[in-house]
Amino acid sequence: MTDSRTPLPTPTVRPSGGDGGERAWSPPSVHVLAKPTGAICNLGCSYCFFLDKEQLYEGDTFRMSDEVLDTYLRSLIDQHRTPQVTVAWQGGEPTLMGLDFFRKVVALEDRYRRPGMTFLNTIQTNGTLLDDEWCAFLAEHEYLVGISIDGPRELHDAFRVNKAGRGTFDQVMRGLRLLQKHRVEHNVLTTVNRVNGDHPLEVYRFLRDEVGTAWMQFIPVVERVDEHGAPADLRGLHASSRSVGPEQFGTFLTTVFDEWVQHDVGRVFVQTFEAAARNWAGLGSSGMCVFDETCGLGMALEHNGDLYSCDHFVDPEYLVGNIGETSIDDLVSSRRQHAFGQDERDSLPAYCRECDVRFACHGECPKNRFLTTPDGEPGLNYLCAGFKDFFHHVDVPMKIMLGLMRRGHPATDVMEILARGGQQLVDDWNQETARRGARPGSGPGPEPPEVGIPRRPVTERGRRATGARAAEQG
Ligand code: SF4
Ligand code: SF4
Repeated sequence: MTDSRTPLPTPTVRPSGGDGGERAWSPPSVHVLAKPTGAICNLGCSYCFFLDKEQLYEGDTFRMSDEVLDTYLRSLIDQHRTPQVTVAWQGGEPTLMGLDFFRKVVALEDRYRRPGMTFLNTIQTNGTLLDDEWCAFLAEHEYLVGISIDGPRELHDAFRVNKAGRGTFDQVMRGLRLLQKHRVEHNVLTTVNRVNGDHPLEVYRFLRDEVGTAWMQFIPVVERVDEHGAPADLRGLHASSRSVGPEQFGTFLTTVFDEWVQHDVGRVFVQTFEAAARNWAGLGSSGMCVFDETCGLGMALEHNGDLYSCDHFVDPEYLVGNIGETSIDDLVSSRRQHAFGQDERDSLPAYCRECDVRFACHGECPKNRFLTTPDGEPGLNYLCAGFKDFFHHVDVPMKIMLGLMRRGHPATDVMEILARGGQQLVDDWNQETARRGARPGSGPGPEPPEVGIPRRPVTERGRRATGARAAEQG
């Protein structure tokens, strides 16, 4: 680790109070996804949008230096006016940096932390390089580890392959079991593509029952290509043959949702469903930038200190600056970054602005908006048809869960309500909602039925008493 600390760049412009100056807003925190190896990865997943980014830094060593690391953590901490700082590592494959790099990270956090400040350390990895030493470190420093698995072997191995083109399922599962052995907190990131997109229940049940995860993210694979099928990143107007289809993604989500809402509410967390619930509740932020009205608070840091507007916009056009020259605070507060985030809302076509599930979808991420609307306006999301299906499909169960919570019941009671009422309940509810002229998510809708669900005993004594009663009743 370097001892000769590079001075932090001094803020170039102070908050302007609104007009003039270069600061457009003053967010109290920012989420930076740092890529210490840039695009370099030990695997060669066929659909990886990031592998091509290597060309941005041709001839580079692709390793974050001690100087950049030091500047990064000080600048990140300096930017935060919240007590918790998230330090998130991603790739490429960040574990390629070796464990010593991460030992420096936690040492620097200790050195620069302000009184009362805590860190949430996260790392997204393919898991293949993890061993006991890694996992002991991750457990000791309470890292939250995201591990990428696309489903059971034959679905995972369809695209998640090594450089020789061979499947990586066994290596990933080995890494996962090591994390579990060391009790490292972890969740699973599953990309939904053209192959596993046809097997929603198989994927979900595998993650739930065999992987044993309680927290899942389903990320649609949308690779943009030109009319000849060549990669065209942010400029392509077509989706590659590996990309999940719009309706396919909608069916994937609705099928998993039905399984979840009937069996797993409260014990399995699916990020998309949590975000939808927050939007149905009107909480202001869904917790997923893609389903919020605006964005701009999730930036990407390259190994050399270049800070980009977003992980999906690592492209010269979206380079905001370098943290060696300008502080993270100035970069995130810049008019340029603010405009980038506002654009998520401001670039919506009229078709989305008038959509009845806009409150939940918000046109999803601008990187996927490369279709034209039925009336010819550009900027419609490639996945629109799937999102429309999904958000309409979940309207009734979402309202039932919100209604339950409003009346002081746990949302988990929705499982019993659906089991008792089944499809009839959903149909009645839809009819009543239509009679009132309500749109999805608009207003509370009809009250959920009073079903007199027995409360589950929460104390050990209560559990024993219930068990005894059940035994008496035979
Ligand atoms: S561009 Fe997309 S992924 Fe990036 S911050 Fe905005 S919504 Fe999120
Ligand atoms: S469902 Fe389609 S039309 Fe509606 S907001 Fe989303 S992308 Fe736009």
